[in-house]
Amino acid sequence: MEEAPKSLNFIEHIIEEDLSNGFLKKNLRFRFPPEPNGYLHIGHASSISLNFGLGLRYSAPVNLRFDDTNPAKEETEYVEAIKKDVKWLGYKWDTERYASDYFQQLYDWAVQLIKKELAYVDSQTSEEMAIQKGTPTEKGTDSPFRNQSVADNLSLFEKMKNGDFKEGTHVLRAKIDMSSSNMLMRDPIIYRILHKAHHRTNTDWCIYPMYDWTHGESDYIEQVSHSFCTLEFAMHRELYDWFLDQVYDETKVRPKQREFARRNFSHTVVSKRKLLKLVEEGVVSGWDDPRMPTISGLRRRGYTPESIKSFAETIGIAKRDNVVDVSLLEFHIREHLNKISPRVMAVLDPVKLVITNYPEGEEEWLDAENNPEDESAGDRKVPFSKELYIEKQDFREEANRKFFRLKVGGEVRLKNGYIIKAESCTKDSDGNITEIQCTYDPKSKSGSGTEESLRKVKGTLHWVSIKHAIASEVRLYDRLFTDETPDAHKDKDYMEFINPESLKVITAYVEPSLKTALPGDKFQFQRLGYFNIDVDSTSDKLVFNRTVTLRDNWAKLQQKN
Ligand code: ATP
Ligand code: MG
Repeated sequence: MEEAPKSLNFIEHIIEEDLSNGFLKKNLRFRFPPEPNGYLHIGHASSISLNFGLGLRYSAPVNLRFDDTNPAKEETEYVEAIKKDVKWLGYKWDTERYASDYFQQLYDWAVQLIKKELAYVDSQTSEEMAIQKGTPTEKGTDSPFRNQSVADNLSLFEKMKNGDFKEGTHVLRAKIDMSSSNMLMRDPIIYRILHKAHHRTNTDWCIYPMYDWTHGESDYIEQVSHSFCTLEFAMHRELYDWFLDQVYDETKVRPKQREFARRNFSHTVVSKRKLLKLVEEGVVSGWDDPRMPTISGLRRRGYTPESIKSFAETIGIAKRDNVVDVSLLEFHIREHLNKISPRVMAVLDPVKLVITNYPEGEEEWLDAENNPEDESAGDRKVPFSKELYIEKQDFREEANRKFFRLKVGGEVRLKNGYIIKAESCTKDSDGNITEIQCTYDPKSKSGSGTEESLRKVKGTLHWVSIKHAIASEVRLYDRLFTDETPDAHKDKDYMEFINPESLKVITAYVEPSLKTALPGDKFQFQRLGYFNIDVDSTSDKLVFNRTVTLRDNWAKLQQKN
């Protein structure tokens, strides 16, 4: 069956229009431009999917460009993490670029601007400059340095570069228009002094170009045809174009900036600055904490690249800011894990169940299907014995007819095994049930072909054999924030909404087939959800993350049977 062609989004419309106006397809080039000041998050996935998606659609190269203009906040650790994440998502960049590789070119262009009387060194304090900047309704006023001679500007700029001045004493400003209605055009700063080592250029420079100046010129150097950024840069477009005008050569491709809406997600924050604070204050264990909305956190949590990509494609891109419900992301991971995860049995909150008529010391290995969604996944054996664990909440001493799990006098099937009947239970002095006594129907074994094996009972429970089960650590996660939009409150900081119960660590009992599982391996714990093995797991102790709970359709299935 042929798939219906996907309708174009507004960004693709822009490209199509350029192509129909004569722009050559072979000149299309895109880039994904992270600042290496933090790890990538689920919001970046939208931008990655957009840019690399365009590359695939138009068979055009996509650069991975690090906009590394701020030595104070950038680190090689972030560069490496970003590369790893983009690769893991399954995208291939054409070339790996760094704005810092263009520092000399940017400097030379800045000198040219000075010579053309389009830039000057301002030696006022930042407070003075801020006052002169004006307001959105009031024009700015000229700096007393605005008409300084070219020679003075060149010499000062050179000294700035040579490290003769302290931080904050001078800046280089573009000479544009102090009365522009766009405040960004009021002589923006293009260079500042920073006596800081850069993660790539080390101490070669002690002046660093500002982001606006760097970004567009880098696009131009790389001959990026379409530079897509988020809406907060819409007002910067005029400046982007002004900077390009100063260096543009007609024979080359002139990059075009267009904006799309930044994605926000419910119950979390996706600003690197805010995420960094969670890491620094120890709210989470690191950037890859499975509760983090980072790509590395999602990976550790058990998300697959496929689920993140299909999520990003589904939400697409928008022209206006909005909040995407994270449950949509959960939907995508469930869909994928349902297809690929082997089913296993694990008990998270155990109560002991004894089968009184099962022979002492006996055990048998039952056949269990690995994945009903995938025949090629095959079968495995699970051990059965006289003493089992089931979930506490699957048993009630007394319950009404709607309770399809186990109750005294009632029957259920043990998944892959026998039908059992609860006869009695034992309680401690507080009334907590400590043991359930059952009998089993030896002829009812699943798959044995007997009439009893086909007998339907209302409930099916998962279980593990106590003697064979592996006690494991399971980390259960909940939303990191209790509020749907933690960083959208005027009077409250997002840190006030941290969910104190976002992580619960328990000991669970899993079937022995998991003994050889490795970090990253993914499973469905039947009736409970999807789990994976955490990197903290060792040969002595298995550690699982709960990726996501199951949709509660088990109960419905039970009723239909
Ligand atoms: P943050 O606020 O998280 O630090 P940023 O824009 O400073 O975001 P960059 O590293 O500059 O982060 O982002 C690289 C690219 O990803 C940019 O083009 C940016 O517009 C885009 N991007 C960042 N966050 C989002 C988001 N939430 N939704 C869509 N695109 C995003
Ligand atoms: Mg940015």
